[in-house]
Amino acid sequence: MPVPVRRLAGANLPLVRDHNSALVLDLVRRNGAISRVELAAGTGLSAQAITKIVNRLLADGLVTEAGRTGATGGKPRTLLRLEPTARYAVGVHLDRADTTVVLTDLTAHPVARRRLPQGMAATPEDALTAIADAVHSVLAEIPDTRRLVGVGIACPGPLDHTTGILHRVTGLPAWDGFPLRARAAGRFGVPTVVDKDSNAAALGESLSAAGTPDDFGYLYHGQGLGAGFVLGGRVYRGRRTNAGEFGHQIMDLDGPRCPCGNRGCLEALCRAALEAGDPARAARLVGTAAVNLVRLLDFEHLVLGGPVVLADPERYLREVTTTIGALLPEPTWQRVTVTLTGARADATAVGAAALILAPLFDTGVAPAASC
Ligand SMILES: [Zn+2]
Repeated sequence: MPVPVRRLAGANLPLVRDHNSALVLDLVRRNGAISRVELAAGTGLSAQAITKIVNRLLADGLVTEAGRTGATGGKPRTLLRLEPTARYAVGVHLDRADTTVVLTDLTAHPVARRRLPQGMAATPEDALTAIADAVHSVLAEIPDTRRLVGVGIACPGPLDHTTGILHRVTGLPAWDGFPLRARAAGRFGVPTVVDKDSNAAALGESLSAAGTPDDFGYLYHGQGLGAGFVLGGRVYRGRRTNAGEFGHQIMDLDGPRCPCGNRGCLEALCRAALEAGDPARAARLVGTAAVNLVRLLDFEHLVLGGPVVLADPERYLREVTTTIGALLPEPTWQRVTVTLTGARADATAVGAAALILAPLFDTGVAPAASC
């Protein structure tokens, strides 16, 4: 029986499209509050250009004037801040056993959330129906649904981010080849993106946690094990958008069979450790694989997240940190900072919303390396 379409009103407001506006908006976001003079200095744009861009952002409601700098000899300067209520995004974390739906404001701060007891164990169409109901429910909490920019959906990979089509997600044959983005966009009638849960979590971390560096690896340990790579402030997905299959690196040629068909994948070894009631060993295995990652990509910052990590975060962090310290040959030179996700609750759903918000702040150019 066809499922009735209930389209959302939204995405009619102008988005930031040009490079310089995104540059200015990103500086406002990163600084919290910033003056026009500082924006000119930070972007290299003329005072006249900044005035024009800021006037447009003010007219669109994306920034507001709020407060003044303390006088430092010269006259006080008016500060600009993001207006959180100017835009909203919906983030959906579609997981194997359940689904989380959040509504975030422009700053990726969650303002409403719903948890659904069904996840990808349901048929794709049933799952989408439940998600659509939850999306309508969270949108009822804002006064104007035209401020919705779009819906981001994060789910286990492998998947094609460009087309939004799922591939062979382990243990979920009904979803193999399912055009999730097209079907979801058809239901919602607003821009929709689909990405791996690990990428969404990494992006959410970079947008919502203050002080997150421009380069880091996010290790996500849930029922599966994935990694999100943020390089130069942007998610690195690879040519086929399938980078970060961290859990399927082969650690033991004679190890247990993995559902992917190979033997001794990290994920299979971790699952065996967890089933044996030894989460510390699972964390040490992840720490060992993290050393491989650091030696390949020279990350100096790693973030840990996902349900297995958050079940006992301090112990997981300690095991991973100790393992990295023990296995890296020159830990004092190749120092690695490991932290727990800053956005603990609903981090992946918030990251899914960030998939929609990120283009507002994306200049299309990775920041230049400092020298
Ligand atoms: Zn595998």
